[in-house]
Amino acid sequence: MSRILDGKEVSASVKAKVAAEVEALKNEGIGVGLAVILVGDDPASKIYVANKKKACEATGIKSFEYILDENATEAELISLIETLNSEKSVNGILCQLPLPGHINEQAVIAAISPNKDVDAFHISNVGKIMIGNFDFLPCTPAGIIEILDYYGIEIAGKNCVVIGRSNIVGKPMAMLLLHRSGTVTVCHSKTVNLKEITRTADILVSAVGKAGFVTADMVKPGAVVIDVGINRENGKLCGDVCFDEVSRVADSITPVPGGVGPMTIAMLLKNTVTAAKRQNGR
Ligand code: NDP
Repeated sequence: MSRILDGKEVSASVKAKVAAEVEALKNEGIGVGLAVILVGDDPASKIYVANKKKACEATGIKSFEYILDENATEAELISLIETLNSEKSVNGILCQLPLPGHINEQAVIAAISPNKDVDAFHISNVGKIMIGNFDFLPCTPAGIIEILDYYGIEIAGKNCVVIGRSNIVGKPMAMLLLHRSGTVTVCHSKTVNLKEITRTADILVSAVGKAGFVTADMVKPGAVVIDVGINRENGKLCGDVCFDEVSRVADSITPVPGGVGPMTIAMLLKNTVTAAKRQNGR
C-alpha cells in the first residue's frame, strides 16, 4: 500500500509558521489582514469562503468578508476592489471564483493590486512566475510543492506529468515543477494516448475534475500521485484518482479529502503574510 501524503499534517506545519510570523509582526505593531469577496450564493464557494475565514482567525490574520448580491455589477465589484487596494489594514485581496456569468473574471483579477494579489492570478504575478522571479505563488500548485518537499520527494530530474492545463492549477503547476528541474509534460482533453504518457510519470498530478479518472493502469509502479480533483459522487467528496486501486501501485498518494485541499488554504495564509511583510518594508 502507498504511503499517504497527509495534507492536513503538512498544512498544520505551514499554519504554525504563519501564526508565529503573524505574532512577530503584531509585536512590531503590524497587523495582517485578508479581504475575501464573494459574489452570489454558490454553496461550494460559500463553504470555501467560510473555511478561509476560519483559517485566518486560527492564525491571527484578520479577515474582512464582503458578500455581494448575485446581481452585483462588474463596476460595483471593481469599485470595491479599488477601495480595498488602498486600505492599509488589508494586505491581501481574494475574489472567490467562479463569478456570475455577467462579470468578466479577467477584468476583476486585473483590478486587484498585484501587491495584494494573494491568489497570484494577476497577469503581472503570472508573468513573474513564468520567469521565476515571483512574490506570490499560486496556492494550489505551491501547496503541492510544499507536500513534496515535506516528504523529501525529489523533483529534479523526475518525469512529471500534469493532467489539466487551467490557469489556476495545471499551467502554474507545470511551471513550478519546471522551476524545480522536473521534466514536465502537460496533458489535456486533446491529448492522444494519455495512458502511455501518464505511465511515464514519476510524479503524476491530476487536476481534471472527474471522479474515477485516474485508474491503476495509468500509473507507473512506484510513482508519486497527487490528486487535485474535488468531485462529489453520491454526496461524497472524492478526487480524480481511484484511490483504492491506485494506492496498490503508487509509492505515495494524496487522499481526498485531506490531501491538496488543506494546502491551498495554508498557502493563501502564507501569501497574505508575505504581502503584509512586503507592504511594510520587511
Ligand atoms: P478546469 O475545468 O479549469 O480544468 C480541467 C482540465 O482537465 C482542463 O485542462 C481539461 O482539458 C482537462 N481534461 C478534461 N477532460 C480531460 C480528459 N478526458 N483527458 C485529459 N484532460 C482532461 O479545472 P481546474 O483546473 O480549475 O480544477 C481541476 C480540479 O481541481 C477540479 O476538480 C477542481 O475542483 C479542483 N481544484 C482543487 C483545488 C484544491 O484546493 N484541492 C483547487 C482548485 C481546483 P482542456 O483544457 O483541453 O479542456
